[in-house]
Amino acid sequence: MKTSVIGYPRIGKNRELKFASEKFFGREISEAELLSVAKEIRRDNWLAQKNAGIDYIPSNDFSFYDGILDTAVLFHAIPNRYQELGLSDLETYFAMARGYQGEKGNVKALAMKKWFNTNYHYIVPEIDDDTKICLSGKKPVEELLEAKNQGVKTKVVLTGPFTLLKLARYTGKKTAEDFALPLVSAYDELLSELAASGAEWIQFDEPYLVRDLLKKDILLFKAIYTSLLLEKHSLKILLQTYFGDIRDIYEEVCALGFDGIGLDFLEGRKTAELVSKNGFPKETLLFAGLVNGKNIWKNHYSKTLSSLCDLQKSAGENIVLSTSCSLLHVPYSLSGESGLPKEYTRHFAFAEEKLQELIDIAHIADEKAGSESEILKENEVLFTKRADCVDEAVQKRVKAISEKDYIRLPEFSEREKIQKEKQQLPLFPTTTIGSFPQTGEVRKNRTAFRKGEISEEQYIAFNREKIKECIALQEEIGLDVLVHGEFERNDMVEYFGEHLCGYVFTRQAWVQSYGTRCVKPPIIWGDVSRKDPITVEWSKYAKSCTDKPVKGMLTGPVTILNWSFPREDISIKESTLQIALSIRDEVLDLEANGIDIIQIDEAALREKLPLRKSDWYSEYLDWAIPAFRLVHSGVKAETQIHTHMCYSEFTDIIPAIDAMDADVITFEASRSDLLILDALVENHFKTEVGPGVYDIHSPRVPSVDEIVAALSKMREKIDDRKLWVNPDCGLKTRGNEETKASLLNLVAAAKIVRVQVK
Ligand code: GLN
Ligand code: ZN
Repeated sequence: MKTSVIGYPRIGKNRELKFASEKFFGREISEAELLSVAKEIRRDNWLAQKNAGIDYIPSNDFSFYDGILDTAVLFHAIPNRYQELGLSDLETYFAMARGYQGEKGNVKALAMKKWFNTNYHYIVPEIDDDTKICLSGKKPVEELLEAKNQGVKTKVVLTGPFTLLKLARYTGKKTAEDFALPLVSAYDELLSELAASGAEWIQFDEPYLVRDLLKKDILLFKAIYTSLLLEKHSLKILLQTYFGDIRDIYEEVCALGFDGIGLDFLEGRKTAELVSKNGFPKETLLFAGLVNGKNIWKNHYSKTLSSLCDLQKSAGENIVLSTSCSLLHVPYSLSGESGLPKEYTRHFAFAEEKLQELIDIAHIADEKAGSESEILKENEVLFTKRADCVDEAVQKRVKAISEKDYIRLPEFSEREKIQKEKQQLPLFPTTTIGSFPQTGEVRKNRTAFRKGEISEEQYIAFNREKIKECIALQEEIGLDVLVHGEFERNDMVEYFGEHLCGYVFTRQAWVQSYGTRCVKPPIIWGDVSRKDPITVEWSKYAKSCTDKPVKGMLTGPVTILNWSFPREDISIKESTLQIALSIRDEVLDLEANGIDIIQIDEAALREKLPLRKSDWYSEYLDWAIPAFRLVHSGVKAETQIHTHMCYSEFTDIIPAIDAMDADVITFEASRSDLLILDALVENHFKTEVGPGVYDIHSPRVPSVDEIVAALSKMREKIDDRKLWVNPDCGLKTRGNEETKASLLNLVAAAKIVRVQVK
């Protein structure tokens, strides 16, 4: 049995690409130096896969920022405002990803969105009526040849035209259908160049097929591939899907004559059934996604082997064992985790270890006496119950939760009155999302403490000093609701994980979130509980530095779960409720210590929302939203609960967000032109709102006029008494200077708008 990898992590084993890119942005290294770092990463990735013995190794899965952006640029979907800057190709590309502010002009970045149900984010291509789609680059060809030069034969990964068209945003009258023809001919030209360069297999990634499809989508898909498959230039075409099953289009896909079809048997709840009910085309290779590309637990070999066995009955022998999706979503390698005892690590498989899993399973599947294998026995042991996972008290507490624990009283409108009366804030209160710039010295302080180089007292004293400065800065800027700045946190989830029982941590397990930004999700090992208060001392100290209100800052249970690697031996609902109870204790402790505004971030609420609408409530929202309410239902009427969300589409789950029953929600809006406001109006959204007035993911300083304009637009849709003024998200990735300049403009804008009201 042959093996296939859909895509490999590309940020570098030690995040080399991140660091090199950041140096390039800061003009510390040249373009040539950045290119050479990228080349080394690609080489290491290919060799790791080749040495492991993988048969179908991807190329063109590398990206400097994002693969969808690469594809948009490859086919010349570059809005005029970026072309007009007159930058080099690579700089134009980064301008689209990050925005540009400099001597050549001033433009915002393209919108960024969550990549399906992952914590990866892609850049949304923007297609205007006058966009001329044509092949305008060589990246896939160059990377194919580069691999070949290193003695590695690869299958070339391309974002499929259907997914590209469906994910793009159309600014004019034209729609996806209008661009299908020129796009297909551009792909066709690319295929011919790839064939001429010796490519054999082309993998078209079409994850959009796992979503709910309309009739016109199916027509569009069929039209595109009927045309593309007509002239294959002697290439073999693999249609690769992932993140779910393709129930709306399975038969059509099978009938089109692909050389390979890649299906996800893990997240695709109906995939096995689709194959067994409808059969599978005889001449086609089935790339069976059975090794999890998203989670870090060891594959359960006997289970996978029995799935393969069933599959062979319905689909025959033409099976290639594959990852379920790109390995982009898991860390590189366990080799950097020397700090974790073997009792833990033997349960984990990161990208590198997953290569070995593919090989092991394929090998055992080929041996007839496979079930006797030593490897299999060793693997089986890992799936007996782990005793150190169980905390009886936690399980009992979850069982004891009753319906009334999910309901906060009095109801929203009454609380709103009480809170306004008590707080006496001006109209359009200004605030931030929580974190302030994490400068080198802030990080150094944390590292030094972790390594034992400074004492706890020294560590605390430093952070207190930072908090004091941060509060003074916010007072100077004139913000209304202050924050402590989150200097003690490396990451909004890892920090809480570290203070909860039931978690384990890695050193190097970084996963790309967007561009150069990586996250290091902690691993939920067992039942979760809170030992002692986590944030109370910091918030209390911040409050003691000012007479203004200080907002306590927590991460919500759904986000903590979604940004951790979850257990697979209990449901995610159960784990989430365990976390919710822990955070509830923290909320009540903050309140008891005089913190009467508490923000509970749910940045990742939408992350595990099922891709199919019919599953939204029954599979997810029906427990995720109550889990959030469980966290805050115990506070007094005058305690104001905020929540914050970013980088996801909310428009379609507005009622669910209102049902979180927070008092205020701040969210990302500036990158998507405030489209969400209409949805708020339509749904009679009750919660007070702070749609971000500027994009913090770019170093650009927004002007006062720009913020006033954004606020004016918001006021057309939102009642003045419900509107808050804040940036899009936390400021930790920004520098001190631009942060102060931006916030000064934000406060100035709020003041101008206040005068307009009077
Ligand atoms: N409170 C967090 C911060 O400001 C929120 C981060 C986020 O939404 N991703 O950093
Ligand atoms: Zn955010």
